[in-house]
Amino acid sequence: MPVDPTTPQSVSDRFAQVSERLALALADAGRDPAAARLLAVSKTQPADRLRALYQAGQRAFGENYLQEALGKQAMLSDLDIEWHFIGPIQSNKTRDIAEHFDWVHSIDREKIAQRLNDQRPSDLPLLDVCLQVNVSQEQSKSGVAPEALLPLAQRIAAMPRLRLRGLMAIPEPCDDPVLQRAPFARLRALFESLRAELPQAPLDTLSMGMSADLEAAITEGATMVRIGTAIFGPREYPSGP
Ligand SMILES: *Cc1c(COP(=O)(O)O)cnc(C)c1O
Repeated sequence: MPVDPTTPQSVSDRFAQVSERLALALADAGRDPAAARLLAVSKTQPADRLRALYQAGQRAFGENYLQEALGKQAMLSDLDIEWHFIGPIQSNKTRDIAEHFDWVHSIDREKIAQRLNDQRPSDLPLLDVCLQVNVSQEQSKSGVAPEALLPLAQRIAAMPRLRLRGLMAIPEPCDDPVLQRAPFARLRALFESLRAELPQAPLDTLSMGMSADLEAAITEGATMVRIGTAIFGPREYPSGP
């Protein structure tokens, strides 16, 4: 019989521990306690765990798989959740993403951004977006190449239904807390130059850092950390493609 490692009670215990980790990392970095916020990454987690975390005070949740997310959104429609889409985006999914999410972190192509812009319903607020950058420079990974970032950002910043908030990256996993900092430092440098090039864009978000590298990301200036395992425990089934 599969063991359930996370009762709703332990979700709130883990949440308290992660909140403490975040507060300590910010203090160690000499940053304001409110300089970064926590995005709870709830992919593969059942709706009742999200509800437990919401009851513990969390409002922003990140999901990777559209169908799974839509199902949970329907079950949690009584809650005032801020929904973030953080997974790869296929063209045929943009309409549902534009209609059902507040943020998208994983844009790396103009075509996807254009579709999200065109499909964002006029009765909803602008869609907040981050561009995903390939900071590990591997062919196989998603994310725009650093050289291609500025022209893409310029075109997206001009799209009227999107609000370009910042950059996101998923560096290669690495156990060494010192080495973890290098790709985050690269993303931050790209972010600073983008802010200089696009002074009119509301660029205030560096979405970087996960369960294993939260501290390194905070040291390098993350304003939003995306945390799954450290809050919910190990995911119980494979997270898909
Ligand atoms: C799954 C996922 C996370 C969370 O990863 P953990 O290691 O479980 O904290 C963060 N960001 C993205 C894009 C993810 O897919």
